[in-house]
Amino acid sequence: MAVLEVVEFPAKVLETKSPEVTVFDDELRQFVSDMHETMDDANGIGLAANQVDQLRRIFVIHIPLDQERYDEKDEPKQPWHNKRYTFINPVITKKAGKISWQEGCLSFPEIFDFVNRSAEVWVDAFDENGEKFSVHATGLFSVCIQHELDHIDGIVFINRMSRLKSSLIKKKIARKGQM
Ligand SMILES: [Zn+2]
Repeated sequence: MAVLEVVEFPAKVLETKSPEVTVFDDELRQFVSDMHETMDDANGIGLAANQVDQLRRIFVIHIPLDQERYDEKDEPKQPWHNKRYTFINPVITKKAGKISWQEGCLSFPEIFDFVNRSAEVWVDAFDENGEKFSVHATGLFSVCIQHELDHIDGIVFINRMSRLKSSLIKKKIARKGQM
């Protein structure tokens, strides 16, 4: 077990598309377990392999039902709350509706902003044992899946914002890097 280092923007690995996983072995299962440990350690609800400097189509999600933290006081408990998910080689097979959520990202400390996504997604993926599974995601789970799937395609969330907004954020990060 190990907590891995989370890379921050503008690391090139965050804008590189990952290839599919082809071997489901003990090394993969150890890496997935380390990803969960890293996500928990960073207090995150999702983490993609790119964010720990590995180009593999893998992300993990765990959304605790924590009403204060996620500001969803009126939202009842959903089947995906408090569940630990590992998505390997995920594919969105269907999307519906629109949602705008204030997103954050472990690779962009202190940056939070609204991103438009699909309200619902249907996803096929494999777990760390190579077993295929399907999920129908709504709400924050749907947002999180789309955010993480973007990561493994080399797309960071500021690329989903307006050009003006993303360039302001890039400047802010560049200034911070010089200090
Ligand atoms: Zn992210």
